[in-house]
Amino acid sequence: MRPRWLAITGLIVTAALLGLAVAVTWTTVSAEPETLIQFKPLKCSLCGHEYTAEIGNRPARCPKCRKEGVWPASRCDRCGTAVAMDIRRFNQEKREPYCPKCGGRKLADLPAGPPAGAATPE
Ligand SMILES: [Zn+2]
Ligand SMILES: [Zn+2]
Repeated sequence: MRPRWLAITGLIVTAALLGLAVAVTWTTVSAEPETLIQFKPLKCSLCGHEYTAEIGNRPARCPKCRKEGVWPASRCDRCGTAVAMDIRRFNQEKREPYCPKCGGRKLADLPAGPPAGAATPE
């Protein structure tokens, strides 16, 4: 028969290891909220204004025409036009995302980057 103290020590060690694992996971998760903020290439599907910024709401408010028509942008593989991923419009037209200029269906993601010409906060 195993001595009672051995069983208790085992329990304590297990609990400590579990606690440590939770603590490590917690620290890792809470250490990098910054990386969630990403600047994306955006395009207003109403006025065609293109810029790079964070996007929260979709559609977001356009800084140029002040209407809510800003969506993440992709680039048409065929003609190189930046295409606003206006899901609302594509749904309305009941078709897959396409290039409004040449009708191309192959749209590539534009690389994300810092906002062009925008002042860095702080
Ligand atoms: Zn606009
Ligand atoms: Zn195109």
